Amino acid sequence: MDPAAFRRHGHELVDWIADYLEHPERYPVLSRNTPGDIVRALPPQAPEDPETFGAILADLERVLVPGLTHWNHPGFFAYFAITASAPGILAEFLTAALNQQAMLWRTSPATTELEEVALGWLRQLMGLPDTFEGVIYDTASVATLHALSAARESGIPGARTTGLAGRDLPRYRVYCSEQAHSSVDKAVIAIGLGHESLRRVPTDDVFRLVPAALTRAIAEDRAAGVVPLSVVATIGTTSTSSVDPLPAIADICQREGMWLHVDAAYGGAAALLPTHRHILEGVAHADSLVVNPHKWLFTPLDLSAFYCRRMDVLRAAFALMPDYLATPEAGHARNLMDSGIPLGRRFRALKLWMVMRTFGASGLRAHIARHIELAQTFAGWVDARSDFTRVAPVPFSVVCFRWEPARLLDGLTEAERRRASDTLNSTLLDAVNRSGEVFLSHTKLNDRFVIRLAIGHERTTLKHVARAWTLLQEEAERIAARSGSRS
Ligand SMILES: *Cc1c(COP(=O)(O)O)cnc(C)c1O
Repeated sequence: MDPAAFRRHGHELVDWIADYLEHPERYPVLSRNTPGDIVRALPPQAPEDPETFGAILADLERVLVPGLTHWNHPGFFAYFAITASAPGILAEFLTAALNQQAMLWRTSPATTELEEVALGWLRQLMGLPDTFEGVIYDTASVATLHALSAARESGIPGARTTGLAGRDLPRYRVYCSEQAHSSVDKAVIAIGLGHESLRRVPTDDVFRLVPAALTRAIAEDRAAGVVPLSVVATIGTTSTSSVDPLPAIADICQREGMWLHVDAAYGGAAALLPTHRHILEGVAHADSLVVNPHKWLFTPLDLSAFYCRRMDVLRAAFALMPDYLATPEAGHARNLMDSGIPLGRRFRALKLWMVMRTFGASGLRAHIARHIELAQTFAGWVDARSDFTRVAPVPFSVVCFRWEPARLLDGLTEAERRRASDTLNSTLLDAVNRSGEVFLSHTKLNDRFVIRLAIGHERTTLKHVARAWTLLQEEAERIAARSGSRS
């Protein structure tokens, strides 16, 4: 592609993107493809001869766009709703053009130092103490893997050099709540402790880890010769966005000499608000924390911010200097390759920096506060209807609820009732998602199917949330009418 063609196609592409962002209603939020559609629509071999950019773009529209689930759509309420905001999109464009690889300070001084600056800004906005050093990873899962690797380095003598196999070691334990994210399981598996080394501690009636249960579990383990290594506390769990009691957990970790990692992948963003600062109370005693700007801080995937109070431990776990990378700056500049497993890293800090500058802290706060308010409004609508039940508090912008139509469920035995009501809720969810206007997801709480609405997109307004509620009620009516005529 010559420079003139690049200029032309670049302008075309920016226009395409601007139209895409401006008219999300053109697309069903949830893709209507069936598995294999895309593979069947594309040739099995790469083209032997060059193709035009026009032909490629035409296939993007014809084949790939129908296979997109539109995470960047204001009607997206599934999982955690996220946003690739305009400044973040432009930053990604620039990141590809600059193609920085920041393994060493000298291979990209700007990437290395902007990462420090941008994460420093975010640390201040969240009210984290400046004893936390930051580094960017692609995902929270990778951040948590690094946190537990550091816990292993600090808690298991000789872990780096001798490994865990073939020598006399006790069993070690990592604790988290029943509601913690599956990335904790994967991290425990990956660091070689074995999945059985993860102990999930019971939660209370609003899905928060119970500190007394943690204390009991630790005592039980110690009595059996098992060594407590780490606790992962969650600020904003994935199902209900519940908040574990960090101060009490931090006390236990200090007393027991355990590594405390805080998973605030989603909820951490709310700490930008003075009204929500308290969610991180006790964090000064944590060893590490992860928050995902690609979740609720309007930054395109992927950008996960990992903060660590003992980054030297992580460096002790992983730093290596191959001869061909030795540089004169060693010792007075940070080489990002030392803070974890990846050697190379791209210029992710650029998008976070551009997002923070374009929105300003006030803009970020306003959007987060607005999302929390919209979730409260939706929760109020659910609460006002006798045939819908909310099943968890709404500390952030996630609402968990069920449809419980008495006229369809009364007269059934308890077991029949549970089965019938789970089926009704999953049928309702499918029907609403088929509309193409909104996309909600589900979870399981106390072994019951629960519908879950998560608000987090920059352009989601009251209109979109109200539409989701109208669709839920209309589809519920329709399903009830059908069930009624059958019985
Ligand atoms: C989303 C989420 C994760 C995983 O995030 P990735 O960046 O996709 O790895 C981990 N923990 C919690 C609490 C989450 O909400």
